[in-house]
Amino acid sequence: MRLSKGFVAAAAAAVVVLGLTACTDSSAPAVDVETPADFAEGSTMARLAEAGEITIGTKFDQPLFGLSNPDGVPEGFDPEIGKLIAAKLGIAADDITWVETVSANREPFIQNGDVDLVIATYTINDARKQVVSFAGPYYQAGQDLLVLEGNPEGIEGPDDLEGKAVCTVSGSTSEANIAEYTSDVIATDTYSNCLEPLRTGAVAAVTTDNVILAGLADQNEGEFEVVNAPFTEEPYGIGLALDDTEFREFVNDTLQEAEDDGTWDELWEKTAGAVLPTPTPPAIDRY
Ligand code: GLU
Repeated sequence: MRLSKGFVAAAAAAVVVLGLTACTDSSAPAVDVETPADFAEGSTMARLAEAGEITIGTKFDQPLFGLSNPDGVPEGFDPEIGKLIAAKLGIAADDITWVETVSANREPFIQNGDVDLVIATYTINDARKQVVSFAGPYYQAGQDLLVLEGNPEGIEGPDDLEGKAVCTVSGSTSEANIAEYTSDVIATDTYSNCLEPLRTGAVAAVTTDNVILAGLADQNEGEFEVVNAPFTEEPYGIGLALDDTEFREFVNDTLQEAEDDGTWDELWEKTAGAVLPTPTPPAIDRY
């Protein structure tokens, strides 16, 4: 999807890196575990609250949004959103089973019931809505480019990529979108796998959502920079089983409440906010 200049400028402003070193303290609980409401019998909420546990798919190698800590527990904004939803079901953070989902396996993991939710920098789009349902959006990213520090090839946007090799991830919207600009695309399974080819010059750029790239640049200080010219809209949703409308509404209500009472800002500030300014979350789409 191509965007108007106004949107691009606003989105570019939204990813200005603050220059702080990322310092996430996801260990401190940000939300209180609630006594679960009296959920309708047979609902997913009732099943999960009764079990006292939930399985959530997220990314494990994306600083700011989902990065595994030394104990193997993911930290970042997406895991915090997961803890928020679990707490609403009366489930403590320790009772969440985290499963690594990469871009290509998010739909099958939901469809097969391997996970109850996917919260993994997961763009809501019509193709995916054929097979899974989405709560949210709870954040709006935009696809961008990561290049070597100093931008030696002078890449200012996707139009400068013609004839150049680019690395991205299979099954992502980034892979689909970049095909419009270059046919020389290396697709791997995680974005962190793209860093070495960028270092060695095997590719001229890595492409995906600006916030993922900002996290990778921050993690590898002095090596890379984000071009900061987003060229798509990537509304992040929470994936769940197709047509589980009650569960989708419950997650939407939980997100709305967190946006209204300041919890959303708090979760952002303790994770992605270490590097990125606090945005206004997008309006929830109760389709
Ligand atoms: N948000 C995009 C997507 O869902 C790219 C990031 C990712 O692969 O997680 O495909």
